[in-house]
Amino acid sequence: MDERKINVQIAERLTKIPPYPFMELRKKINAAKAAGVDVISLAIGDPVEPTPDAIIDELCLQARDPENHRYPTDEEKGMLSFRREIAVWYKERYGVTLDPATEILGLIGSKEGCHHFVLGTINPGDIVLMTDPGYPAYRSSILMGGGIPWSVPIRPENGYLPIFEEIPEDILAKARGMFLNYPNNPTGACATREFFDKLVVFAKKNDIAICYDNPYSEVVFDGQERLSFMSADGAKEVGIELNSLSKPYNMTGWRIGMAIGNAELIAAMSKVKENTDSGVFNPIQYAGIRALKSETGNIKKILQVYAARRQMVLRTIAKIGIDYNPPQGTFYLWVPTPKGMSSLAFTNLLFEKAAVVVASGNAYGQYGEGFIRISLTVPDDRLEEAMTRIEKAFTTPLP
Ligand SMILES: *Cc1c(COP(=O)(O)O)cnc(C)c1O
Repeated sequence: MDERKINVQIAERLTKIPPYPFMELRKKINAAKAAGVDVISLAIGDPVEPTPDAIIDELCLQARDPENHRYPTDEEKGMLSFRREIAVWYKERYGVTLDPATEILGLIGSKEGCHHFVLGTINPGDIVLMTDPGYPAYRSSILMGGGIPWSVPIRPENGYLPIFEEIPEDILAKARGMFLNYPNNPTGACATREFFDKLVVFAKKNDIAICYDNPYSEVVFDGQERLSFMSADGAKEVGIELNSLSKPYNMTGWRIGMAIGNAELIAAMSKVKENTDSGVFNPIQYAGIRALKSETGNIKKILQVYAARRQMVLRTIAKIGIDYNPPQGTFYLWVPTPKGMSSLAFTNLLFEKAAVVVASGNAYGQYGEGFIRISLTVPDDRLEEAMTRIEKAFTTPLP
């Protein structure tokens, strides 16, 4: 028998995606854990509190019904009852009117939507703009869809909002899409209504489809207004908004979200879905309806939890001598490193001195250099322990 193996070819679209940037740190973490060190990770944004009981009960109930064991109904867009509930939720919480038939698409999470947006709208060689620092999945989606990613810097002095005038004309001429995300992961920055108006003008002038990723729309503090891009005049003419049940209802593992907005873009994404997956398992859509309909109490509850954790971390940041005035969104704190220290150096120092892992800012793009990201999605007692260790490690304020 011929024992030769084939030479497996890895698609270029995959080899273009940058590898995990912190292999060295990851190795150190694994070695420390193996040696029995109690490592606390504040690097990942994934709520630890469970999904509310009523949502789980609904899933269990619906899973018992054989009608639900078949391919999801109402085609690839999601159950009409789920889309109707999304329309009600958007009307109540954001004042946005949506047609469930043409302006709403159920998704297997907002991350999936990023990918389908590119597949549905971008041709090989088209440029897609994204903010830097930014959520790494945008770059991956753009590359997998054959597009060319172009980073638009966002900086603290501009409230982490992009300055459209900085984008070169030749880039704009080839740009067909743009990813934006406020409340922003990783910086925590929030958008404003004035910014939305500018975004609509920019998109129309340059024929750029907007993918506004809004999974933290509910995660805002200190009186910050909850905002949907779709509430802006003209937004539906230029783009879509992605949202998700992951963060407001502690449902990251369930994989359920939605795209809303421009009907043509929704139809294009829906065609991609029709030819890729067959939609979300009906019982999960029923559970989603339950969440949207009756679990806003959970949002209030988790916001209080995150607010208290925010204060806990901010106290420590101040105590170790870092000057930081946080924006009001998301469950992340985007903290400047001590003067002159790189993101990776500070990340390493926190790990070596306190066995605390944070996300190094440069993982989110070149303009993330000089920052670390701390996630508040860890149990209170673990966060408290992490902060105690950090304070002890830096008993004298850093220079
Ligand atoms: C968490 C997160 C997502 C993923 O949401 P899912 O609905 O769970 O896929 C998308 N975008 C950003 C910016 C996120 O932080």
